[in-house]
Amino acid sequence: MQVLKFGGTSVANSKNISLVKDIVATNADQQAIVVVSALGGITDLLLQTAALASDQHTAYKEILKEIEDRHLQTIKELLPIHSQSKVLSRVKSELNILETLLEGAFLIGEITPKLSDKIVSYGELLSSYIISEFFISKGLNATYKDSRELIKTDTAYGKALVDFELTNRLCNDFFNDHTANVTVMAGFIASSKQGDSTTLGRGGSDFSAAIIAAAVNAEILQIWTDVSGMYTANPKIVKQAKAIPHISYEEAMELSHFGAKVLYAPTIQPVLTKGISIVIKNTFEPEASGTLITQSKNEQGKTVRGISHVGNIALLSLEGPGMVGIPGISKRFFEVLSLAEISVVLITQASSEHSICVGISALDIDKAVALVNSAFEYEIERNKIKPVIAEKDMAIIALVGDNMKSHQGLSGKMFSTLGRNNVNIRAIAQGASERNISAVISEGDVKKALNSLHEEFFEENIKQLNLFVMGVGNVGSKFLRQIQQQKKYLKDNLKLNIRVIGISNSRTMLFDETGITLKNWEERLANGEKANQEEFMARVKQLNYRNSIFVDNTASSEVSDTYTNYLKNSISVVTCNKIACSSAYDTYRELKHLAREYGSPFLFETNVGAGLPIIDTLKNLIASGDKVLKIQAVLSGSLNFIFNNFNKTNTFSDIVEQAMAEGYTEPDPKIDLSGIDVMRKILILARESGNVLELADIENQSFLPEESLNTTNNEDFFQALEKYEDDFQKLYNDAVAADSKLKYVAQYENGKASVGLQQIPKGHDFYNLEGSDNIVLFYTERYPNQPMIIKGAGAGADVTASGIFADIIRIGNF
Ligand code: ADP
Ligand code: ASP
Ligand code: MG
Repeated sequence: MQVLKFGGTSVANSKNISLVKDIVATNADQQAIVVVSALGGITDLLLQTAALASDQHTAYKEILKEIEDRHLQTIKELLPIHSQSKVLSRVKSELNILETLLEGAFLIGEITPKLSDKIVSYGELLSSYIISEFFISKGLNATYKDSRELIKTDTAYGKALVDFELTNRLCNDFFNDHTANVTVMAGFIASSKQGDSTTLGRGGSDFSAAIIAAAVNAEILQIWTDVSGMYTANPKIVKQAKAIPHISYEEAMELSHFGAKVLYAPTIQPVLTKGISIVIKNTFEPEASGTLITQSKNEQGKTVRGISHVGNIALLSLEGPGMVGIPGISKRFFEVLSLAEISVVLITQASSEHSICVGISALDIDKAVALVNSAFEYEIERNKIKPVIAEKDMAIIALVGDNMKSHQGLSGKMFSTLGRNNVNIRAIAQGASERNISAVISEGDVKKALNSLHEEFFEENIKQLNLFVMGVGNVGSKFLRQIQQQKKYLKDNLKLNIRVIGISNSRTMLFDETGITLKNWEERLANGEKANQEEFMARVKQLNYRNSIFVDNTASSEVSDTYTNYLKNSISVVTCNKIACSSAYDTYRELKHLAREYGSPFLFETNVGAGLPIIDTLKNLIASGDKVLKIQAVLSGSLNFIFNNFNKTNTFSDIVEQAMAEGYTEPDPKIDLSGIDVMRKILILARESGNVLELADIENQSFLPEESLNTTNNEDFFQALEKYEDDFQKLYNDAVAADSKLKYVAQYENGKASVGLQQIPKGHDFYNLEGSDNIVLFYTERYPNQPMIIKGAGAGADVTASGIFADIIRIGNF
């Protein structure tokens, strides 16, 4: 004998019920009991209609109509016309009784738990009857049996307790001389000794199947549902979750107790006692092997087998000086809750005994607060204990595994993973069996917490980085292209899975939680919603992904002003925008401080020398105890390009225009030519070397004529350059005469920095600097005479994009 249970989705409509029939038919070589749920969603509708009726809302009739329609339509689609009338007439007469019950609740304006159970029982009553008739019409040797005649309970309506002795006897008596091949029964419902309908708790059809399987000593209990087994985490929330091939009864029980609703927690106990295996299978993918639940131990030695969560939890904390060393406080506290039938899901008590904190269902919190406060009224009045504190909107997440007890450091890993992702932990508990470690967190953090923990414990190496990209001009679009090209390599080789979740330019923005396909982002962005900085940030926060990185490819101060807010929410910031690091020192210091405090990297390698690893090298020197004595550098790729190409045969303004066209300058070329850009870069290097310096402290003798410096747009600027062409030619000729080249040099020494055009003689490190290259000489205590030199392409959208990319990878390896 085997028992097969099909859940709500599996029997939601005629199409699915046909799949169920196929599965049952292929199993038909031995006797089977088929336990079914109500058609998907019907139990909720029944509860709704009952609630409306008892509130005397006539709207209950509409829901009742919907319930009727779904059943009648299913019958019409499943059964051949000639067998329809019998089934339709029986179902209609059942629905009439249901209607009468609801009318009763409506007239009295009240519903008792007993009536409520009677009403919801119709879901399974109807589905099981219809399915049995369908099986018969398809030629299966099938019968229908009313579960209420076999499963007997007490009268705790809503979640009745099973009388196993009586139930087992009734089941045995019935099945011992039962010949039908397939017996279809309703899940979820049972009856009291007086014969009234009772129910076994939401999700209880699994339990019905287990009770029957244990009673008849079935060979196996098959739970057919809408996912391919019990997963490492709820697959609806964690996309990377995988079905667990084999798990122990205890692990499965712990996971389902903490919210893995694929199996109703009480289901395990009856089959565990009899050593009957459970297999969880997918009705919609019957070939997938699913999950096998048995007594056998966790052979692979895996420590954490799954992660689950229960939502809708409230925390109740009792604390006060009067609790220390006074025996009996906990007893009174738990007694109050237990007398009110409030079940405690999680308990923590600080070792100081100063406080007790429990997690209970949020539905019970108001009642619990009132009861506890009144029980401790005497102590509260005398300030020995504070009025109880309630916190709502909480959830419990639990790591579960039989082998967890023999491994140290798992809780440390769990909490540091959560901490790194800015998930605040309100309470912690470790089950006495050491089979689970649970933490109470805010409901809004559940998705992020589950995904981060899943990544940490199951995806072993693959780490997901979630990018939010602001600015898709020259640099930004190259950056996106590089990600697209490198995505596979990074995943295969660096175990980094980079997903772009949000993109914005100044006009529109686009979000896609599953990751934006980088092939056609331009088109999708153009059709995106209206861009808005604040809304963009609000969405990043609301999505609340782990390893979120905000990437700024703009040159806008409006964007750099938002960094603090991102960092405070543990969202890393990668930027090629120099404004933040080169504005007031306090801003720079604050950003670095926030990055440390919230564990969210703030990286800006491309602020100096585009993709060259200048800042990273400097950081490594300092971190390893070196000290910077002097920096000499050519840091403007654009100025280097301009002075390398400017000569007698062309004009200065033409060369500037060419540099601009090739993407070597800022959108406003004056920022480069005036030296401001180089000032910002040497300022950043000086600051990164550990000095407190402001932009105004840097000396700048500009080579530009005053008139061009005062222009306010590019057109006027270029006109001014043309006007002073002779001056530029003179600069060039003087340098040639001195056998030198013109280089725009930045320097830092003894707390002072300066920038300016210099004639560089032959033989100097800077003399042969090609094209738009940059060079930096770091003179340090370890490199006092022969400086450490970093040299290479220092401007251009491609190298800048790859520098941003490198920062992203640094965060990935963090
Ligand atoms: P049925 O109606 O078949 O009884 P349920 O809706 O009760 O199905 O249970 C299946 C659902 O359980 C899945 O669709 C999934 O959303 C949820 N679930 C939660 N945690 C897990 C988990 N760890 N593994 C698989 N499913 C899970
Ligand atoms: N139909 C019931 C419910 O929705 C029982 C079940 O499906 O397991 O809770
Ligand atoms: Mg279920």
